[in-house]
Amino acid sequence: MLIFEKSKAGRGCDTLPKCDVEIRLPGEKDKRQSELHMPALSEGDLSRHYTELAKKSHGVNDGFYPLGSCTMKYNPKINEDMAALPGFAEIHPLQPAHTVQGCLEVLKLAEKYLCEITGMNHMTFQPAAGAHGEFTGLLLIKAYHQSRGDEKRTKIIVPDSAHGTNPASAAMAGFDVVSVPSGPDGCVDIEKLREAVGEDTAGLMLTNPNTVGLFDKNILEITDIIHGCGGLCYYDGANLNAVMGVVRPGDMGFDVIHLNLHKTFSTPHGGGGPGSGPVGCKDFLAPFMPGLTVVGEEELAFAKAEQSIGEMKNFYGNFSVVVKALTYILTLGKEGIPEASKNAVLNANYMMNKLKDLYEMAYDEVCMHEFVMDLSELKKKAGVSAMDIAKGLLDNGIHPPTMYFPLIVHEALMVEPTETESKETLDEAIAVFRQLYETALVDAEKLLQAPVTTPVTRLDEVKAARKPVVRYDFQ
Ligand SMILES: *Cc1c(COP(=O)(O)O)cnc(C)c1O
Repeated sequence: MLIFEKSKAGRGCDTLPKCDVEIRLPGEKDKRQSELHMPALSEGDLSRHYTELAKKSHGVNDGFYPLGSCTMKYNPKINEDMAALPGFAEIHPLQPAHTVQGCLEVLKLAEKYLCEITGMNHMTFQPAAGAHGEFTGLLLIKAYHQSRGDEKRTKIIVPDSAHGTNPASAAMAGFDVVSVPSGPDGCVDIEKLREAVGEDTAGLMLTNPNTVGLFDKNILEITDIIHGCGGLCYYDGANLNAVMGVVRPGDMGFDVIHLNLHKTFSTPHGGGGPGSGPVGCKDFLAPFMPGLTVVGEEELAFAKAEQSIGEMKNFYGNFSVVVKALTYILTLGKEGIPEASKNAVLNANYMMNKLKDLYEMAYDEVCMHEFVMDLSELKKKAGVSAMDIAKGLLDNGIHPPTMYFPLIVHEALMVEPTETESKETLDEAIAVFRQLYETALVDAEKLLQAPVTTPVTRLDEVKAARKPVVRYDFQ
């Protein structure tokens, strides 16, 4: 039931103090022409409404959430406590710098640690998400070539094992996208890469580990090839959960990188909540950085880069996410950061090895933080698809893995357990996966009907896509 359907005229629960300044109404032409429909509920009913909605959805606080590429790790509550401190939460972005020195220090420290972790020299927190960071990084690459009068570099090379946002961001930044295929080992086909580069190459975007969960073993050769032809190297670091504190993109020859603080550095996400996709770069790209950066030692202040690409977002980005990331980094410390990544990789390999006698793996190699299964054989044999197995997981209280992605694997299920799951949770999930496989062979119909225990059961996905109901008609 929608909140509007629960509404009763005259009810309400606002606790705002009486307005103590003069009320000015807009002129006739700016006034609303129709009534404003706001739901009217008591505080208790409102609370029940949202609790009911929360119960109907699945989150990290409910159970296992192995959504590949999304790093749905458990986010310690202390991160929220720090971000909610009044000194961080109740400030105004236009406050003079000398009144918010602590906040500037948060930005400065977060930049310092994240540069240390990635091997970069500078970092901006303006971008609000990973894809936003990609777009920002590409504008830096563009500004760099343009500043040297090198106008012919119009192409960005994107391997086919890249995250889907990579080619989209390159196109949005005004580049032509050149796709390079992967070899049978799931890594970039080096010969095809050599054929693709030239004087028109602006750069390469590499998702690493790539979308099949593999660390490209030729990574140094890849960055050499790109630099050799005058291009720059962009590292999609949204999957940094696999390598943080272990290897640094900056040491591998990358010039620009984005991170997903809302994945690797522990901010709840998935419901559209605020994210942060900071972009790091080497010194030579610093003159083009967007927004304001923190400078100074004793007295901190903001400064703008000379040839800045401009504003990617208002003010300093999603500051509270940066507070959470810094809290997370300080909590884990120098030993905890690489340990988290190693456990993420260990957990993924553990699950993969406990499943691979039944489920066919798309690439039967040591994986990084996630692995991809290929269910085409099962579909042929039993008529049960990756989607049906995913629906079966729902009946077992497990959020499905990422499905039908990456596109280069058919009937794909991409599993990312993360480091915050215990061996017991992994063992339970392994048992469920194995059980579902058996069910597919002996009672396929049961899986074709799943899920039966969830608030909504099998949805008509075609109708939902073709005839979505996205508005409510007030009577
Ligand atoms: C999640 C992800 C992105 C996009 O991040 P958003 O915050 O969703 O925009 C980009 N690249 C990779 C590899 C990702 O996993």
